[in-house]
Amino acid sequence: KHFILLFIVIINSTLIIGKSKPWPNSPPCEIRSLDIATRLRFDHDATKIASTDFGNLTHQIPAAVLNPSSVKDIVDLIKFSYNCSVPFGIAARGHAHSVRGQAMAYNGVVVNMTSLNDHCKNGSGVRISWSASLGSYADVGGEQLWIDVLNATLEHGLAPVSWTDYLYLTVGGTLSNAGISGQAFRYGPQINNVHELDVITGTILQLLMVYINLINFGFLPNPGRGEFLTCSKHENSELFYAVLGGLGQFGIITRARIVLDKAPKRVKWVQMFYSNFSAFSRDQEHLISTKGLDYVEGSLTGDDNHPNNWRSPFFSPADQSRIASLFTKYEVIYGMEVVKYYYDLSIDTVDEELQMLLKELNFIPSFIFMKDASFLDFLNRVRSEELSLEAKGLWDVPHPWLNLFVPKSGIMDFNAGVLVDIIHKRNKTSAPILVYPTNREKWDDRMSAVVPDEETIYAVGLLHSGGAIDWQVLDGQNKEILHFCDKAGIKIKQYLPHYETKEEWVNHFGAKWGIFKERKAKFDPKIILSPGQGIFRLG
Ligand code: FAD
Repeated sequence: KHFILLFIVIINSTLIIGKSKPWPNSPPCEIRSLDIATRLRFDHDATKIASTDFGNLTHQIPAAVLNPSSVKDIVDLIKFSYNCSVPFGIAARGHAHSVRGQAMAYNGVVVNMTSLNDHCKNGSGVRISWSASLGSYADVGGEQLWIDVLNATLEHGLAPVSWTDYLYLTVGGTLSNAGISGQAFRYGPQINNVHELDVITGTILQLLMVYINLINFGFLPNPGRGEFLTCSKHENSELFYAVLGGLGQFGIITRARIVLDKAPKRVKWVQMFYSNFSAFSRDQEHLISTKGLDYVEGSLTGDDNHPNNWRSPFFSPADQSRIASLFTKYEVIYGMEVVKYYYDLSIDTVDEELQMLLKELNFIPSFIFMKDASFLDFLNRVRSEELSLEAKGLWDVPHPWLNLFVPKSGIMDFNAGVLVDIIHKRNKTSAPILVYPTNREKWDDRMSAVVPDEETIYAVGLLHSGGAIDWQVLDGQNKEILHFCDKAGIKIKQYLPHYETKEEWVNHFGAKWGIFKERKAKFDPKIILSPGQGIFRLG
């Protein structure tokens, strides 16, 4: 009994946050004799790929990469680490579109989730069903790209309701964060549109959990059913809420049951320009509070001739030169983009309905541009820009992105201090800068994701690319922005957060820190999962 207690105290003492020590452990050599050994790669080519991500700022070499052929392979890997005297880190790598090494595992093992795609019979892929209680839904492997989910569901005339701007991201990767775009005001983030998950947690010995929980928190955990669990609002609900927005800390998502709705075939897509932030934000807030539109997003508009602007394909060359003329007249230009979906039945009325919705808006007169597009082309709008930047060698550059949620109460100060002063006047960046409001009531506070505590919150994406400008300079600008918000008392939250210290993480989670830590102790007590987030570290 004493031995067990001593053992638990040692384990317990490892749950230290912050940068106390570098991640210490690589897998012991016995890993090479496991059944999964043929799916493990230790060579430089494989580990090098797993040490990169979209951000191209951080590089952490893992000891190995697992190309799982089934969910069981991942279970076996986690079990192996769990049973090592000193466990090693394991990171699910979706499409590695993180920007700060979040899907990396220094010295540990990176699980290349997309390899499950080659073995769809093992619970992954995209399967569409219907039930009286849920309506239409899709069971989707955590490794699936949203573009593949879209294509598969469209074949049935259906589609998910909440999106990201860019679709070459995995379901597991975006559900670990939130998944937001201009539909979120209406449907909430992607995490709000999930019925059920299959999750492999970092826990295997329930007995040990009992002791850890007793020592840490003075209560007994609910009896678990092992490391591979199905969870929903009604079953293993704590795991369900933990994993959604949980930054990969509590388990690896291998299946998500996603809400589907009837897919429109086409959309009316409108862009308007503003010279005045008050009018721009007022109009956006008005549109998200009224029914009728399906998508609302705003941006700080740069010179559209710049090759790094994602919005350029919308406009004809003539439109572009008209828009460019605005830059000689006004200090700062904002663009608002709205979309109305339409169906066969609404084809005759959609234009009129749209006119009604837009008639009271205060954009610069005559600076409104409309386009009729297929639903697929609209949702997949960033892809053509990706290909074009890739062809110019501008996609695989450093990306010191900063994504924030800004409460409505601080958005005017944020505009003046950050968008106008730091970004526009002093640095003249032409990176895409997104600014759009969303409704807080669509976020479920039981989930791990954190957003400011106000009815209306703005999603702000400062999507910088290094190359022409040194990325360290842009990173310095990010720090200046965070400092400005702090000084101005604007209670922002980072989206896709990245912090260096324990204090910053505790501050980020705020009132949710206690439960986040408690859930970590419950679902990944040995701190195995997603070490690249840098939230918990072995001491
Ligand atoms: P990865 O980078 O591979 O992983 C991210 C984190 O999730 C890691 O900690 C990883 O360990 C963990 N993880 C991965 N798979 C799983 C799994 N199956 N189970 C549990 N944990 C897992 N975000 C938005 O919300 N809206 C946008 O419009 C948007 N646009 C983007 C556009 C571009 C060009 C890029 C590069 C990113 C964009 N993002 C957007 C951010 C994106 O949603 C996140 O970076 C997301 O994590 C990327 O998914 P991924 O599959 O690449 O995840």
